[in-house]
Formats: sequence, structure tokens, C-alpha cells
Amino acid sequence: MSLSLSDVLAARNAIAGIATRTPLVPSPFMSKLCGDDFLLKLETTQAVGAFKLRGAVNALANLPPDATGVTCCSTGNHGRGVAFAAQAKGLRAVVCMSELVPKAKVDGIRALGAEVRIIGRSQDEALAESQRLCREEGLTEISPFDDPYVIAGQGTIGLELLEDRPDLGTILVPLSGGGLAAGVALAAKAIKPEVRVIGITMENGAAMHQSILAGHPVMVEEMPSLADSLGGGIGMENRLSFPICQALLDDVVLVSEEDIYRAMQTLYYEDRMVAEGASVVGLAAVQSGKLGRPPGPIATILTGRNVDMAVFTDIISGRDVMLGERLVKGSTYGA
Ligand SMILES: *Cc1c(COP(=O)(O)O)cnc(C)c1O
Repeated sequence: MSLSLSDVLAARNAIAGIATRTPLVPSPFMSKLCGDDFLLKLETTQAVGAFKLRGAVNALANLPPDATGVTCCSTGNHGRGVAFAAQAKGLRAVVCMSELVPKAKVDGIRALGAEVRIIGRSQDEALAESQRLCREEGLTEISPFDDPYVIAGQGTIGLELLEDRPDLGTILVPLSGGGLAAGVALAAKAIKPEVRVIGITMENGAAMHQSILAGHPVMVEEMPSLADSLGGGIGMENRLSFPICQALLDDVVLVSEEDIYRAMQTLYYEDRMVAEGASVVGLAAVQSGKLGRPPGPIATILTGRNVDMAVFTDIISGRDVMLGERLVKGSTYGA
């Protein structure tokens, strides 16, 4: 393994004009809470509504010349990124997902002309189907997080963050398979070694966190979460995102479903923004007090906006939300 800043710089060229260079805006409410600037990187403004476009476009720009099509497993947004990039290149795309993926995300992928396969109740089962398609139908597999081009593509966010705010003290990165955190940490620390990069994820099935504690990839039980994009394991054969996160993340902080619920309300009522649960874990970590006081200014990445709108309206209305068998108790914002 050797990924470096030069791979991220190459990715920036490859994705220019397709993935957007997104704005970094202050959140006055969160800044007041932190006592220092708190900034939001708006990946919600990407064409597919999530940062995953960056890695997917870079991966497809670097396909072997004889590739006839691509396949992937996805919690929704990677599939959407791959579908978008494949459509732009006129390639076949097959996206494999579990039954836990919300309908809004499945519809978004179909609308981009990709084939969708819904397989089983976990990302592991979706991954197995994607690997079968690779072997049997000659498609090229694009991992959502354990691929050098995907990691380099996501890393372009780290470049933009430090270009816009060279004074950043801490970057809060929503964490699942770790492609985003690995890329951002790689780029940001190459430019500014002392910047802190902290992964934030949900308590329910924190695969990267458990793996870092164990010192090797471990399986976790996959559970429904408001942060559905953070579900799934890191792959027992993980080659890249695990060692990079293990080496470069300064800390990992876990937030509860109630913290995520409240942070979605906060972002909506205070900043007037719509984002999915995975996007707001950085706000949730600050608001809940679980982050402590890392050096400021602090930036977090609003990773995506592809929330199920029925769930979103329940949350901003303060209603209870059912996650499988489990109830997330509602509460009115500000009450
Ligand atoms: C994929 C995703 C993440 C996590 O990215 P990883 O590279 O898997 O750690 C966070 N937020 C959203 C919205 C995502 O789609």
C-alpha cells in the first residue's frame, strides 16, 4: 500500500468539472456552542446529493481500458455515484444493496439507469453478490471504500478544506468503511501534519471503531440506524482504508440515535439545511458533549442529503421514529 498526496492531486484533476468543488460555510449556532468557528462542508450540493461522486468518478476514470461495465455494493450513495459516473461514460452499472437501504436511495440509483439488485439484510451479502457478478459477468468491482482511486477521490475534500481554511484545527469526518476518513486524513495531514482528524460514527454497529480497537478488521452486527449510510462492515480482507484510518485518525467518537435525531433537527432549524443522518454525526458529537474540546476552528463534512423524506419530516416534527424493532423517542426542537 502506498497512497499519497500526489494520488489525491491526480484525483482532483480527474474529477474536475464532474464533481463539484463544494462550499465551506459557517454555522453560527454551532460556532457559538463551540466558542470557535464551526464550518460545514456542503457535500449535500453534489449532483447525486453526496460526496461519493468524487471517489466513483475517479475510480471510473482509472478503469482498465477493456472494462465493459462496473458493479458495486452500496448503502445507497456509492451506488448513486457509480451509476452517475457510469452513465456519463456509457458503461453498464449493477448496484447490489441490502434490504436495509431506504427506498429513496434505491429510486435515485434506478433513475440514473443502473441495474439494482436487493440482496439479504447486510452489506456483506450485497458484497458477495457484487463479487459474483465480477467473476461470472466480467464486470469490474468498485469498492465503496477499499479502493485506492475511491480513497484518493474522497481525499480531494481534504485539499479543499485546507485551501479554504488553512487555520483549521480539527476535521470531523463521518466514518463507516473509512474511505472518506482515510482520504481526508491522508490529504489534510500531508498539507498540515498537526491538524486533528476525528472519525465520528454511530454506536449501532461501529465496524471501523471495533476494528481499530482489535487491531484487525472485525465483523459487527448490522443494525438499522438514522445514519443508514454508515451501516455495514469494513471487509475482513480490508487492504487500504483500515490501515490508513488506524494510522492517521486521532480519535473515533460514537454518537447515539437520539444524538443524531437531535442534530438533524438542529441543522434544519438553526442552519435551515436538510441532510441525512450520516451527515450530522459531527454536529451530534459536539452537541452531545461526547467530542470534548478539540482545537478549533472545527470543520465537519455534511456528507449527503439523500434522506427518506417521510423520516425527515417525522424528525423535524418531533415525532417518534421506528428503526426496525427499536423506537427513537421523538422530541420537539427547542422544547
Ligand atoms: C458512505 C457515506 C459515509 C461514510 O463514508 P465511508 O468512506 O464509508 O467511511 C458518510 N456519509 C454518507 C452520506 C455516505 O454516503
